[in-house]
Amino acid sequence: MSFSSLGLQSALLAILDKLGYQTPTPIQHAAIPEVLAGHDVMAGAQTGTGKTAAFALPLIQRHLARTNAANAIRVLVLTPTRELAQQVHQSFVNYSEGLGLKAVVAYGGASINPQIDALNAGCDVLVATPGRLLELAIKELIDLSTLETLVLDEADRMLDMGFIIDIKRILKRLPEARQTLFFSATFNDEVFALSKTLLKQPKLIEV
Ligand code: AMP
Repeated sequence: MSFSSLGLQSALLAILDKLGYQTPTPIQHAAIPEVLAGHDVMAGAQTGTGKTAAFALPLIQRHLARTNAANAIRVLVLTPTRELAQQVHQSFVNYSEGLGLKAVVAYGGASINPQIDALNAGCDVLVATPGRLLELAIKELIDLSTLETLVLDEADRMLDMGFIIDIKRILKRLPEARQTLFFSATFNDEVFALSKTLLKQPKLIEV
């Protein structure tokens, strides 16, 4: 099974080739066609399974298909920690090299000003931790009205870390009509309850 059979275009296939990715991992195999088709996805996946590429590759392809003259944020990825935000941001940078996509990362515990500068230079994909994202939104430093896809990465950890109130406040600011991708390593009642408020007829993926 190859990446091309999942519907990825030649520009992305060339980048994957350069990175030495030959075969999709099971989560990539299952998720990439669903994300490309615009479906909501609820996926159970641990770190190390290739889950980042499972959402980043198809989102890059979907959102490159149109030019973004307004530099409006189209993809928001929420992560529980600064380290994961940095990793996911780096993945978007690596997977879209030379394609003109602008990815920005914003997290708490660091000065907000360089993050604001980066946002003002244009942002298609914003990867952020919930607290800092909310701060940027409340101060009206970002426009989320054009958002097309929301990704919750490691949703279980975000709940464990007490981000539920921030997440609910963020959700109120997002367009109702959007694609939502929900990734969690574990599922309990709280995780299911959150997923239910977010997802519309999701494709369920377990690997
Ligand atoms: P993740 O689970 O997203 O943290 O990814 C784990 C690691 O696997 C990362 O270092 C990726 O660069 C790498 N990786 C992801 N997908 C593939 C693939 N299809 N082939 C080879 N390496 C991959």
